[in-house]
Amino acid sequence: MPVLSYIHHLFNIDQCHAYIHTLRWKDRSLQCPRCQSQDIDPWGNYHYRPGCKRYWGNGCKRTFNDLTDTLLHQSKRSLAYWILATFLLCLSCSSRRSARELGVHSRTSYRWCWGLRNTAVSYEIDRQVAGTVEADDLYHTAGQKGQAKQGGTKPLGRRPRGRRKKREPGRGHYEKDRPAIIAWVSRQGPVVIQAPKDFTVKTVQKAADIAVHAGSRLYTDSASSYQALKGYLHEFVNHTKKEYARGDVHENRAECLFSLLKPYLRVFRGLSKMNLPGYLGFFQFLRNFRHQTAFEQAEMILCAALDPAIASRARKGEFVRSLDHFGLLQTAII
Ligand SMILES: [Zn+2]
Repeated sequence: MPVLSYIHHLFNIDQCHAYIHTLRWKDRSLQCPRCQSQDIDPWGNYHYRPGCKRYWGNGCKRTFNDLTDTLLHQSKRSLAYWILATFLLCLSCSSRRSARELGVHSRTSYRWCWGLRNTAVSYEIDRQVAGTVEADDLYHTAGQKGQAKQGGTKPLGRRPRGRRKKREPGRGHYEKDRPAIIAWVSRQGPVVIQAPKDFTVKTVQKAADIAVHAGSRLYTDSASSYQALKGYLHEFVNHTKKEYARGDVHENRAECLFSLLKPYLRVFRGLSKMNLPGYLGFFQFLRNFRHQTAFEQAEMILCAALDPAIASRARKGEFVRSLDHFGLLQTAII
């Protein structure tokens, strides 16, 4: 009886390639990714990548395969790794956990996870909620986690906070390492989660304009920034008077969403405030496709990752950057 360390060693390589081949070409005919010519011939296999079929394009006289110009292009690891990595990401694993389960270096897994998260966010960039929308806000501790660009520790600009930053009373702020998170939850299903720097009237109006369709019915708590919102049919409950629901007016769905978001973010053991929009964007993707299984979600991500146009933007981190309307991302992610 052979002993295996990793589950993906059980995957059949030919089936993985057949699956990826189907995903890549299901919406378009088999063509050269460089010149779009459909005049192609089979061109054998790669000796170092078993199961991967090579094609010859008569248009530009070059070879290509199913992975050319996709997010998986020129990866040294086989498709089994990528399929399992995407599945684990949809089960909300951290990149370090994925690294252990896959048997790759944590830096490899970090790069893959952010590439795949960016790809998933491509489904979310233009999302707006409408109908009856509930809104709520949260302040999450997020500081300067990570390494400096040149390697070594990052200059913090303050004293290290020990194991955990002690919470200050009152609302958080980006500069205080507790940026705000606003969730807009439609009772018709979709959600939008944003990471503004603060919670002023101006910021909340901008966030609402981006996330919520004008004229929607909006239910919030009694925070003054919500009360100043313009362009919506707004009603609120007053938590300080112990009023949590008044007939139809409540924000329990938004609060419930935060009860799911908090344990999701906790998995990462503290996070960088620059990465917050990326994590929130991916969580938004998982919530908006919550009726699908984790593998169906993984299939959606792989499908997008196999589109050269999406893959090249995802590699540069463009999708997460386009979610960042408030300037949290000062540096590129990948
Ligand atoms: Zn060509």
